[in-house]
Amino acid sequence: MTDERLATGVASVDRLLGGGLEADCVTEIYGEGGSGKTLFCLEVATRVAREGRWVFYIDTEGVSVDRLRAMAGDDLERILKRFLLSTPKSLEEQGRAVATACALAREGKRPVGLVVVDSATFYYRLSLSGSDEDDARQALSLELADLVVTALAAHVPVLITNQVWRNVRDGTLEPLGGSFVNHAAKTILRLDRLPGPRRRAVLIKHRALPEGTAEFRITVRGLEGPVPSERSTVPPSP
Ligand code: ATP
Ligand code: MG
Repeated sequence: MTDERLATGVASVDRLLGGGLEADCVTEIYGEGGSGKTLFCLEVATRVAREGRWVFYIDTEGVSVDRLRAMAGDDLERILKRFLLSTPKSLEEQGRAVATACALAREGKRPVGLVVVDSATFYYRLSLSGSDEDDARQALSLELADLVVTALAAHVPVLITNQVWRNVRDGTLEPLGGSFVNHAAKTILRLDRLPGPRRRAVLIKHRALPEGTAEFRITVRGLEGPVPSERSTVPPSP
């Protein structure tokens, strides 16, 4: 990490983020299915683990071992030794996994380089429109508060992914979780699908940087964004 930023390894996105993820806050990535949220998390996580720091990775979707292997290459074993992976199967289990990861990060016994929750809202979404909607909202709020406090206290970047819903009024894709998630995350990136393997990251919110965009593409080895991208105005949600 340099200058309090954790480089993601995707050059165009790092430029957009002024060097990378900030160490003391929650960064949210949202976007439709297949936009590259999980691959982005894995890209950053393998980079951190390769450098010898721990990654606390909470995975509600089933990380593809094939993808991890392709990104890690010969370093897979070394990288997995630095992964503390939890795979919760319910919102309650997710809450416990986040609480454990936060407690361990704050304890500081291991050098923790990154906390990932992918996806923060998968089980939350399942609870919406049911009788336990309020409980789900409260559980998500508590988790996010824990992650916010941990990022600050342990000085560790926290990366969460969020799913989207289509706003029927104007057809835009909106992140789940409403204003609470929006406020908890100090940096928000939206990922858009472009034709083929190309993807676009849109910086929606940052404490110190203007909005902008960066392109990258998905390759067999991971995400690559070598083409310098100019900052531009934010395109509408697809
Ligand atoms: P979800 O919301 O469903 O979890 P996601 O945003 O996490 O989706 P990812 O799983 O990160 O999406 O990305 C999957 C996308 O990556 C798919 O669109 C797939 O076609 C693409 N992809 C995977 N491997 C390659 C590859 N080797 N070359 C090009 N594209 C690839
Ligand atoms: Mg995913």
